[in-house]
Parts: sequence; C-alpha cells; structure tokens
Amino acid sequence: MIDRCLICGNTPAVMAIFAPDDPVAWGAPGGKGRVFRYCLCSNCKGRSDTPERVEKIIRAELAGGVIHAD
Ligand SMILES: [Zn+2]
Repeated sequence: MIDRCLICGNTPAVMAIFAPDDPVAWGAPGGKGRVFRYCLCSNCKGRSDTPERVEKIIRAELAGGVIHAD
C-alpha cells in the first residue's frame, strides 16, 4: 500500500489516480490502459504545481521500476 504523500512524504490526506492520455508511453502493453494510484497530503493536494510534479515523480519512479500499476 501507498501510505505517504507522493510529493513530500507526509501523512496522506487523499488518494488520487493518474491515468495518462498515452498509456503506451507509460509502459502499458499495447491496447491496454494504465492507471497509477498515489496519495497526497493536505498541503500538496491544493498546490497548483502538484499535477506536474506528480507526473514527473511517476515517470522517474517508473524508470526505476519502483512504482506499481494496476
Ligand atoms: Zn505532501
């Protein structure tokens, strides 16, 4: 389970889902979608730059093979 804010590591307040427009570019097998689940704390969920940071972090973690996708 994910139990920390993806961005800062604080106790999470919400769980969110990131569903890329181009799943293949995110490692999905051809024709299948890909969805990433992550958590945000109350501070980070309200920040305007959070979606951009989430995308960068997921990309980085995907490259490192440490994030799990459904
Ligand atoms: Zn946070």
